[in-house]
Amino acid sequence: MRDEAAIGVDIGGTKIHFAVVDNNGQIRCQDIVPTRGERGAKAVMDTVASGIARMLEGHGRLAEPPPIAGIGIGSAGQIHYRSGEVAHALDGIPGWIGTPIKRLVEERFPYPVYLDNDVNVIGIAEKQFGKGRTLEHFICLALGTGVGGAIVQSGRLLRGVYGGAGELGHISVDFNGPRCPCGNFGCLELYASGTGIARMARERSSSLEGTVRDIDSRGVMAAWHQGEQWAEEIMDIAIRALSAGISGMIHTFNPQAVFIGGGVASSGDRLMNRVSEHVRKTTASAMWKEVELLPASMGAGSGVIGAAAQGWFYSMPRE
Ligand SMILES: [Zn+2]
Repeated sequence: MRDEAAIGVDIGGTKIHFAVVDNNGQIRCQDIVPTRGERGAKAVMDTVASGIARMLEGHGRLAEPPPIAGIGIGSAGQIHYRSGEVAHALDGIPGWIGTPIKRLVEERFPYPVYLDNDVNVIGIAEKQFGKGRTLEHFICLALGTGVGGAIVQSGRLLRGVYGGAGELGHISVDFNGPRCPCGNFGCLELYASGTGIARMARERSSSLEGTVRDIDSRGVMAAWHQGEQWAEEIMDIAIRALSAGISGMIHTFNPQAVFIGGGVASSGDRLMNRVSEHVRKTTASAMWKEVELLPASMGAGSGVIGAAAQGWFYSMPRE
């Protein structure tokens, strides 16, 4: 395989990560800037374009720079992956829905441009460079502000009609639960995301003390590790919700692995062990025998590396 590089862009709600990534999955230079989504879609796209231009300059300064194969972008929201437009997003960036990201970048740079959802590109990073390299069927779960998912079946991303498949955060784990912005009740995301864990902590503290304590999911997990009972009760709900969701996913997709990543998962072995214990009890033994629950193997750069890797992923030979 000849040496190549690609520009990766990972557009998140709070920051945009740019990188030059080579086809061994190594970041050769990078830059992170705030998204400042409140400025609206057009301003964010200007930030994206100037970041790509900076990466092209950075690439030019590398010793023996490998030729650039393309530009790959991952974005929060549901992505119409063929047309390269945002199909659906929450309102962090006004005007983001309908933004023709792929076309806008193609107009400014002479390279092929790829666009996908920010968690699908994590699936691509696992498949190209991570522990998913040797697997054909796996699921990636990203437990961050929300809960995102990517499903790889027979080496390909499962897409659905336009690319919306894999919204695993919106599997309901309690039909009597609270209403989710998606319309359903008791979605996994309401319990197992950073936002969900913080919400449960706020609700609990207001019912106990009549005042709402300002606490985020990091605070809850720190208290959990210190053995505080209230945090144990909240994390128990998060863990059981996550386990119910994962068990359903295993029964639906019969995967070889479920990779769990994101800020909430970075609380370590204790979370993984507890989830594993629950899922084992709630999954048919024939399926449990074939599946491993693993921490995401690609780390903090997985979004930008997977975004960059889209061109290589699509050119992989398949049976
Ligand atoms: Zn939902």
